[in-house]
Amino acid sequence: MTASQTTPAVRLEGITKRFGDVVANDSVDFTLEQGSIHALLGENGSGKTTLMSILYGLYDQNEGSISVDGHEQTFDSPRDAMEAGVGMIHQHFQLVPSMTVLQNVILGHEPVDNGLINDGAARGRIEDICSRYEFDVDQYLDTRVEELDLGAQQRVEIVKSLYRGADVLILDEPTAVLTPQEVERLMDVMADLREDGQSLIFISHKLDEALEIADQITVLRDGEAIGTVDTAETTEQDLAQMMVGREVLFDRLERESSTGDPVLEVDGLCMRGDRDRRQVDDIDLTLRSGEILGIAGVQGNGQSELVEGITGLRSVEEGTIRLAGDDITGMNRRRRIENGIAYIPEDRQSEGLVQDYSLVRNALLGNQTIAPYANGQILDWDEVSDHAAEIVEEYDVQPPNPDATAGSLSGGNQQKFIVGREIGHDPDVLVASHPTRGVDIGSVEFIHNRLIELREEGLGILVVSSKLEEIRKLSDRIAVMYEGEFIDVVDPDAVTEEDLGLLMAGHEPTNEPPQQSDPQPDGGGSRD
Ligand code: ADP
Repeated sequence: MTASQTTPAVRLEGITKRFGDVVANDSVDFTLEQGSIHALLGENGSGKTTLMSILYGLYDQNEGSISVDGHEQTFDSPRDAMEAGVGMIHQHFQLVPSMTVLQNVILGHEPVDNGLINDGAARGRIEDICSRYEFDVDQYLDTRVEELDLGAQQRVEIVKSLYRGADVLILDEPTAVLTPQEVERLMDVMADLREDGQSLIFISHKLDEALEIADQITVLRDGEAIGTVDTAETTEQDLAQMMVGREVLFDRLERESSTGDPVLEVDGLCMRGDRDRRQVDDIDLTLRSGEILGIAGVQGNGQSELVEGITGLRSVEEGTIRLAGDDITGMNRRRRIENGIAYIPEDRQSEGLVQDYSLVRNALLGNQTIAPYANGQILDWDEVSDHAAEIVEEYDVQPPNPDATAGSLSGGNQQKFIVGREIGHDPDVLVASHPTRGVDIGSVEFIHNRLIELREEGLGILVVSSKLEEIRKLSDRIAVMYEGEFIDVVDPDAVTEEDLGLLMAGHEPTNEPPQQSDPQPDGGGSRD
C-alpha cells in the first residue's frame, strides 16, 4: 500500500516515435500519479494520440520505456495493456452498434459457467460498477448501442474498460462529441473515478477543460513535452504560451466602431432540409454593417440550412433575403458572391478547397468571372498568382508557397487561406460557418483577430459555431437556434455558458434570462 502511494501509476521515459520523417514523439517523459487526473494538452498534431497509443499497445515506440505501477512493460497489443490495467476510450467509440450494451461490455470477456455464457454474473458485476460511480448504464443493458446518444455510448465505453479491470483510463478528446451538459456530466464521472482511486489521462486541446478537471497538465508541442504544471499554479495564458510557443491574447476585443446600416435582412425565412422536414422555421434577422451576429446551436438545428439559404446554396420555401436593401432571394450563388456575400464554408475539405490543386488554382475558385482575374472568358493567371501570393503573405499561410497543393497544408493554414480568398471580394456580408473547426489555436487566434478587424472596417459578419467560447468571444449578439427557430437572442456579456448550453438544448435557463433591450435578432427593433 505504501509503495503504491509513491510509485506512479504510469511512467513513460524518453519515448520517441517516428513515422517516416515525422517525429511524432521526441524523447517524451510523462508521469501519471496514482489517483489523479492528468491532462495531456496540445494542438492538433502535437503527438498526444501517438503517445497514448504507445501506452495502450497500439504502436511500438522507437525508443524509451513504459512502467505501470512500477513494473516495466512491453505492450505488443491493447490486450497486453488491458492486462496491465490500462484502458483507452477512443474518440471514435469502438462499440458494435447493432449489439446490446451488455453484449458490448462483455465482448471477448464473457463469464462462462460450464461452457455457457453466464449473463447473470456479468449483469451483477456491471451493476456493481454502475452503483459505485452513479452510472446509469445498468438501466439500458439490453438496449442496442445504436439507439443511445453519444454521451451514453461514452459511459458504456468507460464501463467496458472498468469491467475489464482498468485502473488507468486514457480518454482521448472525450468532450469533442458532447453537449455542454454532457461535458459537465463527464467531468463529474471523472472526478468520481479519481475519488475511487482510478488514475486518468485526459487528452484535450481545450485549455479551460484541462484547467477545470486535471490535477496536473503536461503540454506537448511538435512532439516534445514542453512542461508539466500543477493546475493550481498555472493560468490559461501560461498554458497557451506553452502550447503555441508565443504569447496568445484571449480577451474579448472591445469594439471601437459602432454599427451602421442593415446589410443583410432576412424576413420570414422557411426552408426544408434533406429529409423534407422544415429545418428553418420563420426566421427573421437583421445584420448591420460593423456587427457580428453569432448563431449558436447544437449541430442539426437548422443552422447549416439557414446559411445555405443565405448564401444561395439551397432554395428557399418562403420569405425574403435582402442584401444592402436589394432583394436577392431569387439570385443564384454566383450572383450573390458578385453582389457581396462572402462565405467561409463549414466543410473546407469538400466545399472550400480542391485538395489536389495548388493554392494559385484554389485562389481562382469563386473568382472565375470577376475582374481582374477574368476578362470575359479569358483568365489572367498572373493576377491570380499575385492574388494567391498576397493571401499567403497577409494571412500567414504556412508553408508560404502558392504552388503547394491545398491538401499538403494543415487545417489551420487551409482555413486562413480560405478566409483570405473570400475577403478578397470586398464583400458587404461575410457568412462564416464554423470558421475554426479543427483548427490549431494559433490559427484560431489569427482568424478571430481578423474577423474582429473586418468588423471594425464595417463588414457585417454572421458566425455560426457550436463552440460557445468562440461565439461569446466574437459576437455582439447571439441568436440561439433550436429546431429551426431562434429561441432567444442574448447579450454575450450577460449570458452564462451554462444558460447558453441550456438554451441550445431547448430548455429555459435556470436563472432569470439576462435582460435584453433587443429581444429580436433584427437589430433595429422595427418589427414586432
Ligand atoms: P495529436 O493527437 O496531438 O493531434 P498525433 O499523435 O495524432 O497528434 O500526431 C502527431 C504527428 O504524427 C502528426 O504530425 C501526425 O501527422 C503524425 N502521425 C500520427 N499518426 C501517424 C501515422 N499513423 N502515420 C504517419 N504519421 C502519423
